[in-house]
Amino acid sequence: MDRARRRKFGQNFLDAPTAELIAGDLPAAPGESILEIGPGHGALTEHLLRRGNPLTAVEIDHECVEFLKNKFVGVLDFSVVNADILDFDMDAWIAGHGKPWLTGNLPYNVSTAIVAKLMPLLRKTRGFMGMVQFEVAERFCALPGTSSYGSLSVWVSARAQGRILRKIGPEHFTPRPNVDSATVLLTPLADPLEAPAAFYDFVRAGFSQKRKRLANSLSGTIEKTKVLAALERLGLSENTRAEELSPQRFLDLYKIMQE
Ligand code: SAM
Repeated sequence: MDRARRRKFGQNFLDAPTAELIAGDLPAAPGESILEIGPGHGALTEHLLRRGNPLTAVEIDHECVEFLKNKFVGVLDFSVVNADILDFDMDAWIAGHGKPWLTGNLPYNVSTAIVAKLMPLLRKTRGFMGMVQFEVAERFCALPGTSSYGSLSVWVSARAQGRILRKIGPEHFTPRPNVDSATVLLTPLADPLEAPAAFYDFVRAGFSQKRKRLANSLSGTIEKTKVLAALERLGLSENTRAEELSPQRFLDLYKIMQE
């Protein structure tokens, strides 16, 4: 397989023992459907299928798709779709599969875009368990006040409980990536934050200059006096920084700004 292709599609294939461990971490009950993103050569797929759950795999690389069709020929309840997951109608697929699980060793070049796409749909699923770059996993699961906490953490934690399950070193992949990886479990919250899309633009603006006071980082879009007045109404200091605010606090602030 050529190097350019591997780089273009973020192809770092897992070794068999690690794939078995990770597949074993998916908390799917018998009968629950699974959507696997980026099956590659089926390292995870193989162990997931052994559990007997119906599985659909979405893979962008047609060579991998052909490989998988041959590898799993005759396996019941398995299908592979040759598509870019970012274009794939995940909503429709989920609607046709009860409350499914989402999983995959995600291609790192688009892992954030993939998780951004699936977060608004998460409440219709049992959750996501999969692999991303370690630092990205930390950002997904970060709590307010920690160094990894940012707009991505708000995006995820507004809808999910995030937990890092395993840190996986580069030696478990071929070819080896230059970074550590981790599996994360994102389970949907019973009462996710109800927020409009514009709220997340507000959050991003708030984190645009992380070390600055919120009133300053937002000053490009909102008058500073307005931010200071809103902080005061919430009983927050004028020195408050974005990283100190929980998703709910951020939403409270956003709502006051809209009044
Ligand atoms: N699951 C395999 C494993 O663990 O060995 C492969 C994981 S590899 C990190 C990522 C896989 O995602 C590759 O097979 C790659 O071709 C596929 N991929 C990359 N971008 C994709 C996209 N936008 N949509 C669907 N699959 C994609």
